[in-house]
Amino acid sequence: MRLSSKDTLHLSIPFLVLSGITDARTEQGQAMIAFGPVPSRRLGRSLGINNIPPKLCSYSCVYCQVGRTIAFETGRQRFYEPERILDEVRERVRQTTELGETIDYLAFVPDGEPTLDLELGRSIEALKPLGIKIAVICNSSLIDQDEVKLALAPADWVSLKVDSTIEHVWRKIDRPHRSLKLDRILEGMLEFRDMYKGELVTETMLVSGMNDGKENMEAVAAFLSSLKPDKAYLSIPTRPPAEKRVRLPEEGALIRAHQILEKQVGKVEYLIGYEGDAFASTGDAEQDLLSITAVHPMREDAVEKLLAKSGAPRSVVENLVAEDRLIEMEYDGHRFYVRRFSKGKN
Ligand code: SF4
Repeated sequence: MRLSSKDTLHLSIPFLVLSGITDARTEQGQAMIAFGPVPSRRLGRSLGINNIPPKLCSYSCVYCQVGRTIAFETGRQRFYEPERILDEVRERVRQTTELGETIDYLAFVPDGEPTLDLELGRSIEALKPLGIKIAVICNSSLIDQDEVKLALAPADWVSLKVDSTIEHVWRKIDRPHRSLKLDRILEGMLEFRDMYKGELVTETMLVSGMNDGKENMEAVAAFLSSLKPDKAYLSIPTRPPAEKRVRLPEEGALIRAHQILEKQVGKVEYLIGYEGDAFASTGDAEQDLLSITAVHPMREDAVEKLLAKSGAPRSVVENLVAEDRLIEMEYDGHRFYVRRFSKGKN
């Protein structure tokens, strides 16, 4: 099993165990600090770091793949000594290297919010001598705190969650701890952007009828135009969500979201759970179309160019549409093609 969008949400350790990818628990059933590496579309092969206890979070997102939040917290605490994190990660790196496997990133992706760890910054610093780039996927909720900005600063790559910049939508989808204030979080993200030297990306998880509408996406786009992330990712809940009522957005909503963001942020990509290398030019028109449309909607003229370049007939597209692997849609006066992703809605 490939976990190509594994980085779209905080990783589920039981899922990793079941998938046979890694033994993520000790014999006593305790979560291991270091696990993987697992394939991730954004980070390549990333070795996961679980720096907090299970499902400790400041949000209880309706789409969370690890269920409702058990320990609802905003207070930062000390969980593991940075030396212990370093020991476990170093050992995992050694085992992985011995197997001849590579690691592109050490990624803080616990089953909860990694910035709740008071030792996050020291742990990142402790891992630096391993010479592997360090990533943190966080929900942004504590970024208004200067200590959190400083903790994230030494990381090479940081992902901030921006599901909504509209108060009632944010409350509905992310279900934040009552002490959190959206305006302070947004301000904190902008301040972090000013000081941060690494690669900054955002992730917006789209849920049908909650935040995939035009109004919300325009508000998110306006904010991202100030934040200027290196890349904005749009994701969808690809695994069972905390709440059964969560529905995948329609393809039209996904195209609209992409178009709206693209006008404000140069680089926008989907994370919709497909395997394969996006944009890998194989010379095989069918494969190229499927790879590219998994990341971007393609306008008809771009599709025509791709077909011409590989000398492929128009029937390649028609067959993919007939097989329901590609969807043809009109949007904003143009015809677009997008990868079918909403079969078997959850
Ligand atoms: S931020 Fe949301 S998705 Fe991430 S662990 Fe917390 S509740 Fe789950």
